[in-house]
Order: sequence, then structure tokens, then C-alpha cells
Amino acid sequence: MSPLQNALTQLKKAAELVKLDAAVLEILKKPKKIHEFSIPVKMDSGETKVFDGYRVQWNDARGPFKGGIRFHPKTDLNEVEALSFWMTIKCAAVGIPYGGGKGGVTVDPKKLSKTELERLSRGYTQALKDYIGPERDIPAPDVYTTPQIMGWIMDEFSKIKGYNVPGVVTGKPLEIGGSAGRGTATAQGGFYILEEVAKKFHPMGDDPKGQKIKNKKLSVVIQGFGNAGANMADLCFHAGYKIIGISDSQTAIIDKSGKGFDSHTIAKMKEKKGVVDVCECKEIKCACKDHVHTTNEKLLETDCDILILAALENQITKKNVGRVKAKVILELANGPTAPEADEKLFKKNVLVVPDVLANAGGVTVSYFEWVQNLANYYWSEKEVFEKLKKIMVENFDAAWKIKEQNKTDLRTAVFALALGRLEKAIKARGWA
Ligand code: GLU
Repeated sequence: MSPLQNALTQLKKAAELVKLDAAVLEILKKPKKIHEFSIPVKMDSGETKVFDGYRVQWNDARGPFKGGIRFHPKTDLNEVEALSFWMTIKCAAVGIPYGGGKGGVTVDPKKLSKTELERLSRGYTQALKDYIGPERDIPAPDVYTTPQIMGWIMDEFSKIKGYNVPGVVTGKPLEIGGSAGRGTATAQGGFYILEEVAKKFHPMGDDPKGQKIKNKKLSVVIQGFGNAGANMADLCFHAGYKIIGISDSQTAIIDKSGKGFDSHTIAKMKEKKGVVDVCECKEIKCACKDHVHTTNEKLLETDCDILILAALENQITKKNVGRVKAKVILELANGPTAPEADEKLFKKNVLVVPDVLANAGGVTVSYFEWVQNLANYYWSEKEVFEKLKKIMVENFDAAWKIKEQNKTDLRTAVFALALGRLEKAIKARGWA
């Protein structure tokens, strides 16, 4: 099924559970506005290439549209629609005052030079100049978009307005109004959730103080080595989890020493921003001999306590779900588990911590960035993470209660939490 079909299937299930008002459901099933446009870009060679761009503004009942922009060769309107719907649920699930939106450009940014990428980013901003802004719609990074790209967008928008508008976009470099902690926020938020899961979910250890996180050395496999995956690997490693498998978009490696990757390997991967290079290293200390290369499919089937999905949509589907051995799946990516797979995992007692909560740390710190921009007053990283932890843990607890009370899966419970908030806002506005 397409990402949008998956998203709407999840909506239907949760709407039934909470007996959502029929009119509210109709509103939430559709995007408020779709922007579809082409972006001509002068390439360094002198020729002009035209790229397809999108911005979907799903719902703004709870506040301005909010969500990242994805630059990916396989991005299309269906995917961007699904992602903007998930942003609507996500912002409501953590109770931040935003609606949901998402953008995308069908492009392989790895094939563009820096100047071409800059022209594309500025072109994207020009196309949306009347539809984005701190009170309207606030983009941010997503797959293959960076703080530098956010800096160009902020600059282009500010030039159009004739004054500085830092709050038009989040995930900016620190020097021009970015927030401390935003770079690692998605992983950090997911990590706070993981530690809560480790305390509550018995198969992972039932020590009342949660001490088993360190003692038992839970084994972790991470699919994806972008911003979320790489930072999560770092956090898990330093908290004492045993990382036994990692992949990037090219390859995957599995530990065969039985001890998990060592600090040298983790550091090397972080430095090289990927998996391939670490195994090509020639240094004596390089732990390559302890790894075996494998495919992405095999990585997902590795026997482990926690499988962290930090790549793209539709990774666990009805085709491979039967071979998944993890006890917990944490979704740092958006939409990595398809609904049919979700059902099977629930029956097998595998806990799936859904994207709309597990990766909400990114947009939550985006919210903090926007607040700091509007106030022109900046916080320390410590303050940012304290506030982030409070939001993540409180909403995790609220969702967990719904899950226990209704004997449902955690995704449906998080959706239920979000739908309750959305329904109240939609009714308060008189839309339904
Ligand atoms: N792209 C991220 C997400 O999917 C962050 C969005 C934001 O910060 O607005 O949640």
C-alpha cells in the first residue's frame, strides 16, 4: 500500500476506537491545501533543469502548518501527503501548537553541487513565498535536507520580505537563529522514549529502578544512518546498549564478535557519516574483522531486543514481518511499518513505538526554536533537553495509559491521544 493509504488506515482504526465525530474524521482525511509546482534551476553546466516540488498543508486547526522538506529522488505527492498527515497527528500527540504540513522535491541532492542545491532551495522558497511564514507554515529539515538548506530558505524569505524572518523555518544553523539541541533532537526524543519503554515493557527487564538498561545490555539494531540513526547510535552506545547492527543507504553490517560494536567503530562511523567507510579502513585498530556485511533485508531480521527504524517508509511489511525477531521496534523514520505488519506484530506481542511519538523530538525542538525566534531570547542546550524530556515522557505516559485501558497497540493509542486534541480544536473553531 502507498504511504497515504497506510496513514489513512491508521487514522480509521484510531477514529473507531475513540468514536471520533464523523465530520471531524472527514476533515482529517483530506489535506487543506496542496501546492504542486516546478522549480527551474540553472545548473553549473549552463543548462536548466526543472524539478518537481510539493508542499502539502494538511490541517491547521491547532496552529500553523508545520513539517519538514524532503529532497529525495523517490519523493512524490502521495508520500508528501502521508508525511503531512503524520505531522498533524505528531504535533497533536506531543501537544505543541501546530498543525501539520510537509514538503518535498523529487531530486537526488547527492548529484547536485552546493551552488545548484542553493539555487534549488531558493527556488523552492520563491514558489512558496505566499504560503509559508512564522504564522502560516514553518518548514524544517527532513530526509537529505540540512541546516544549511534551512539557512538559504530563511535568507531567501527574508530578502523577499525586506527584513529578517528567522521564524519562517526551523532547523537553522545556530548563528542565524537555530536552537541549541535541534541537530540531535529527533534521536534525543526517541532515546527518552526508549528509556521509558525499557522501564515498562517487561520482556526487556523488570527491575523497578530500570537498572537493567545498563546491566542487561539490551541489543540494538539501527536501520539508517542519517541524522536520526547516527545520533541514536551514539546515544544508545554511550548509555550502555549493545549495538549489533547498523545500515546506511548503501549497505549494512552486523557484529559478529558478540560484544557489539566498540567505541572506535562507532566513532569512525559517525565521523564518516556512514557504514561503508568504516569497513574500508586500513587502521590496525579498525574492528572490521568483527563485522560481516549484509543486506538491508537481513539486517531487519537480526535477532535483537530493539530494532530502530531510521530510514524510509514501508520497511516492515506483510512480506518480511514474519521474520522480524526484535521485541521492540522504535520508529525514528516516518511510516516504516505498514498496517498489516503492525497487526501481526501486535499479535506476536512485539511493541511498536510509533513514529508520531518516537520521532517527535525533532518537531518539538523545532517548536522551541520558533518560540526562541519569536521572543528573540535563546536557551541553553540543557534547558532545551529538560523541556523536551518533559514533553516526551508526559505524552508517552498518557498514550501508554490509553493503550493499557483499551488493550490496543501503542500506535492506535498515540493516535487516540492526538485525535482527542484535534477534535477539541476543530470543534472549538466551529468547523464541525
Ligand atoms: N522532518 C521532521 C519530522 O518528520 C521534523 C519536522 C519539523 O521539525 O518541523 O518530524
